[in-house]
Amino acid sequence: MKKSISGITAGLLAFSLTACGKKSDSDTIKIAYLPITHSLAVLETADELAEKTGLQVELVKYGSWNELMDALNSGRVDGASVLIELAMKSKEQGIDLKAVALGHKDGNVIVTSENINSPEELKGKTIAIPHRQSSHNILLNDALSKAGLTTDDINITELAPTEMPSALAGGQIDGYCVAEPFGAKAISLNAGKVLFESAELWENSLCCGLVLTDKFIKENPENAKTFVNSYKQAGKNLTKEKALETAEKYLSQEKEVLELSLQWISYDNLDITEEDYNILTEKVKSYGLSENPPSYADFVKNDF
Ligand code: ZN
Repeated sequence: MKKSISGITAGLLAFSLTACGKKSDSDTIKIAYLPITHSLAVLETADELAEKTGLQVELVKYGSWNELMDALNSGRVDGASVLIELAMKSKEQGIDLKAVALGHKDGNVIVTSENINSPEELKGKTIAIPHRQSSHNILLNDALSKAGLTTDDINITELAPTEMPSALAGGQIDGYCVAEPFGAKAISLNAGKVLFESAELWENSLCCGLVLTDKFIKENPENAKTFVNSYKQAGKNLTKEKALETAEKYLSQEKEVLELSLQWISYDNLDITEEDYNILTEKVKSYGLSENPPSYADFVKNDF
């Protein structure tokens, strides 16, 4: 008799532990990303949070910005590491999103064939960008403006990042600007050279942002706060060595490509300042990416 009571008690105890220990859906945050060095802070956060708190980051990998934006805009994910201009465009079109941090600082290059030595020599050339709504498009415009040129003076083509190094090597394009490590890839293939690093064209440039849906922030304020603060700390933890380790874990790229690429990028302070954001919105307007980008107050949430 005694034995069967303890059996029942043990069974109940086991049942209640299972019930209490089970994580609710809101303790998982689904974040979309592309396998690029620009998303390393979110990949690092996922690793660190799983060890330290009950909040799980479910990383959802996409192959293109369009697929990722579909998932974000339709609410299939709670947030994303994404080109900030794409998120701004969604916000402009009525999707409720907030940019809560930068993806990275600097970290872009304009790569060209060896025979192009100045921005003047971009005239008449074919240059690839990943998307019209990107800082890569802005950086290309910045480079052209150094020579008094505009995008009317070149042929712009949109290509998938993975195709760009081979397109340059094969002569189909004369240069490109895209998320890393695809610039570094061309250098390692001896297919081109760095014409400009982003900081030479646009100091404190914005590129990718970490965005969350308003729905997630509203329904999970504590988890949103934990996630964003952990994310910013994870950025600080991404030394060159740690960044290389995380990149090797998540991106299928050779070590030498990653090592070169990581020289151009940092993650140490991922706050979006109003001053830097306003420079971005001016560029977005002057280069024709958007006439009416969202204001800092409407789009950036910096008070977690
Ligand atoms: Zn970026």
